[in-house]
Amino acid sequence: MGDLGPSAPMTASAPRSRRIGILGGTFDPVHVGHLRGALEVAESLALDELRLVPSARPPHRDTPQVSANDRLAMVECAVAGVAPLVVDARELQRDKPSYTIDTLELMRAELAAEDQVFLLLGWDAFCGLPTWHRWEELLQHCHILVLQRPDADSEPPDALRNLLAARSVSDPLALKGPSGQIAFVWQTPLAVSATQIRQLLASGKSVRFLVPDAVLAYIDAHGLYRASN
Ligand code: ATP
Repeated sequence: MGDLGPSAPMTASAPRSRRIGILGGTFDPVHVGHLRGALEVAESLALDELRLVPSARPPHRDTPQVSANDRLAMVECAVAGVAPLVVDARELQRDKPSYTIDTLELMRAELAAEDQVFLLLGWDAFCGLPTWHRWEELLQHCHILVLQRPDADSEPPDALRNLLAARSVSDPLALKGPSGQIAFVWQTPLAVSATQIRQLLASGKSVRFLVPDAVLAYIDAHGLYRASN
């Protein structure tokens, strides 16, 4: 390394805290609603990384229609070269239900204490929070960003009212510290769901423009979601 010269500081300044977003889901399959929302949040909150985390055996819902390997491969195709979106496959490597609290604890252990973690939840997922394993501990590890979904009901469940009153801030850019607050984020409304995509494919229709071309190519090449599956 060259001479830094007389004006260079004697000690490096402390690295700024990192800003990490997490979007979990079954991604059965991943679609533009997930991807566009993730990218918009990553850009507007200046995230260093937004991790898409496919879940293995989701505790709250039906078994995914295609294998974990196929769901992972589709997410990998979708985000290839789209920084700061990345794939985190850790929940697929666990042979137990994928509880978000476990994932958060593992990720936290790998980060610096001051790093900020943002858990992205679509409105429907947010409303289901009180049924999640150890849900009241989630905010010890992350902030929660709620993505509006165009097809969502407008009222949160009663169990979340007190939490919202105590923890929500109106501006997502005002979220302070590593964890503990909730903010709602605006994104381009895209009323797309994986359910709709599976139904279209099962009835022999096209899903072009609802998923990235690379995901479409993967679905076609592997004959996924067609009526014969
Ligand atoms: P399914 O139709 O099979 O229930 P989904 O389209 O809701 O699937 P998931 O993989 O269950 O997709 O969603 C992962 C996360 O992404 C959840 O937090 C969900 O609320 C959010 N999400 C999914 N689709 C959208 C969308 N169109 N707009 C905003 N958020 C979304």
